[in-house]
Amino acid sequence: MVRDGFIKGDYAYEYPLLIKHLLKTPLSLFPDREIVYRDLSRYTYRDFEKRVHKTANALKELGVKPGTVVGVMDWDSTRYLELYFAVPMMGAILHTVNIRLAPKQILYTINHAEDDILLVNRDFLPIVDAIGGHFETVKKRVFLTDDPNADLPDGFEAEYEQVVGKADATFDFPDFDENTIATLFYTSGTTGNPKGVFFSHRQLVLHTLGVLTFLTAYETNGKISSDDVYMPLTPMFHVHAWGIPYVSTVLGVKQVYPGRYEPAMILSLIRNEGVTFSHCVPTILQMVLTHPEAEKVDLSKWKVVIGGAALPKSLCRMGVNRGIDVYAGYGMSETCPVLTLARLKPSMLQYPMEKQIPIRCRTGLPIIFADVELMDPEGKLLPHDGKSVGEVVVRSPWLTAGYFKEEEKSKELWMGKWLHTGDVAYFDEEGYLQITDRIKDVIKSGGEWVSSLLLEDILTGFEGVSEAMAIGVPDEKWGEKPLGVVVLKASYKGRDEEEVKREIKEHVMKFVEDGTLLKWAVPEIEIVDSLPKTSTGKLDKKVVREQYRAKYATNE
Ligand code: AMP
Repeated sequence: MVRDGFIKGDYAYEYPLLIKHLLKTPLSLFPDREIVYRDLSRYTYRDFEKRVHKTANALKELGVKPGTVVGVMDWDSTRYLELYFAVPMMGAILHTVNIRLAPKQILYTINHAEDDILLVNRDFLPIVDAIGGHFETVKKRVFLTDDPNADLPDGFEAEYEQVVGKADATFDFPDFDENTIATLFYTSGTTGNPKGVFFSHRQLVLHTLGVLTFLTAYETNGKISSDDVYMPLTPMFHVHAWGIPYVSTVLGVKQVYPGRYEPAMILSLIRNEGVTFSHCVPTILQMVLTHPEAEKVDLSKWKVVIGGAALPKSLCRMGVNRGIDVYAGYGMSETCPVLTLARLKPSMLQYPMEKQIPIRCRTGLPIIFADVELMDPEGKLLPHDGKSVGEVVVRSPWLTAGYFKEEEKSKELWMGKWLHTGDVAYFDEEGYLQITDRIKDVIKSGGEWVSSLLLEDILTGFEGVSEAMAIGVPDEKWGEKPLGVVVLKASYKGRDEEEVKREIKEHVMKFVEDGTLLKWAVPEIEIVDSLPKTSTGKLDKKVVREQYRAKYATNE
C-alpha cells in the first residue's frame, strides 16, 4: 500500500461509504423539516430517522438479515423512502420490483432476484394473486396499505404500519464493506427476460455526491438547494427515482411523495406543499400540463428535469411558457442513472428563452465522475468536436458491474472495459452531449421499454404472417409507440387488410391476457408486400424505421 512508506501501523479507521452516513447532516441541520405522503400523512426528519430504525427492527423480526433480498412493490411513498435507507443500512438488498413489467416478467424478476420477503401495496394484490403460486423463494409477504382498517389478505404475514409501529426505535446499524450490494432492480431490454442491475453502498453514496455537486454548486438554472421542496415523478422502483431521494435527504429539503401518479393529485401537491423540484419522463410532464387543473396552479417556481427519453422542444416550450425551469437529463438503469444534465452554463442565462430552449433540450453536460465518451464501431474513441458521431460509452464509479447472474450479457455491456449504452451521439461545440439515435433494438413508449423481439415473436406466431418487424414510431403523447410491420403469407394475400389487421390484434391480445405483454405494448399494424434486407440478408430495420418515422412524424 502506498501509505506504508509513510507510517508503519494501521492506526486510522477506514471510513466505508455507507448509505447510513447520508442521514446525519440533514438531522443536525433540519430535523423539523417535513416529509409528506400525498394528502395522507406527514412527519419530520426526526420522525423519519426513528421510522428507519423501527423499520429495520420490524424487518429483523420478520427474518431479514445481511444479504436477504427484500422485494418491494409500491407506488412512491414515505414507506418506500424508509425502505431505501433501512434495508441497505441493515446490509440487506433492496429489490425495487418493476411493477410496469408484464405479470409473467414480474414473476421472473422476483424469482431471479431470489426475493426472500415481498412487501406489496394493495393495488398490486391482483398481480401477486395471479403469480404468487409460482414464487420460488419468497417466504413472507408483507402488506402495504394506506387504509388502517384494511384486512390482512390471505397469505400475508403482517401489515407494514402495524409491525413498524410497534417495533423498537433504535437499531444498531453496523459498519461493513462499502462494496456490499445495496439495491437491485430489473430493466427490460432488447431481448428475452428483463435484466437485473445492482449497486453497492459506495456507488450510491458517490452517485449522490456527484449529482449533488452538479445540481448545487453552479450558479445557474435548475439548481436544487436546501430551501427547495422535492417531489419525485419518476417511479421509485426505477433506478432509485434517479437517486434524487438520496440527494434530497442529504440536503434536508422538504420531501413530498405522491403515491400513484394522478395529475390532479400531483397538481394539488405542487400547490399545497409548494413543490419546487421534480423529475420525470416527458409523458408525465405532458399529462400534468394538459390537465384542466393545471391552468389554476402557479408553476413558476417549479424546476423539472426530464429524462428517460429526449425532451421535445414543444414540451420544453410549453413548460417554460408556464414559468417552469425545465431541462433534460440523461442516464440509464445500468448507470445508477445520472450521466449528464442539460443545465445552462451561467453565461447562457442571458440568452432569450427561444435560444435557451434548444440547449435545455440537449442531452446534457457530463456530471462530475461521469466520463462520457464516443466510440466508433472499431472501438476507437472519437473527439468531442461538434461532428464526430459514435456510440456513447461511459466509465464512472457508479455503473453496474454487470447484469445480475448474466455472464454473457455483462461481458457485452462492458466490452473493452467501457460500459456501452447503445445510444448514439455527438458532443456539440459547447461540450453538451446530443443523442441522435439508438443502436439497441428497443422501443420506448411513455418512458417504458417494449422488447421488439418479443413483439416480433408474437407477430410471426400468427398463422397468416410470414415476416414481422417491430419498430418504434413517433407519437405525440407517448414519445414513441410500437408498430408491427408484417408481410402476409400467400394464403392471406388479397384478403381484406382491415380484417386481417383485426385478426392479428386479436392474436396479440391473447398474450396480453396470459400476462406476457402489457396492453399499452400492443402494436399498431402495417401490412407490406416485402421487408427490405441488408447485404447479409438480415431484415433492415433502419430503412423501415426511417420510412415509418417520416409517416408518423410529429412536429418535433
Ligand atoms: P432506462 O434504462 O429505462 O432508464 O433507459 C435509458 C435509455 O433511455 C437510454 O439509454 C436512452 O436510450 C434513453 N434516454 C434516457 N434519457 C434520454 C435523453 N435525455 N435523451 C434521449 N434518450 C434518453
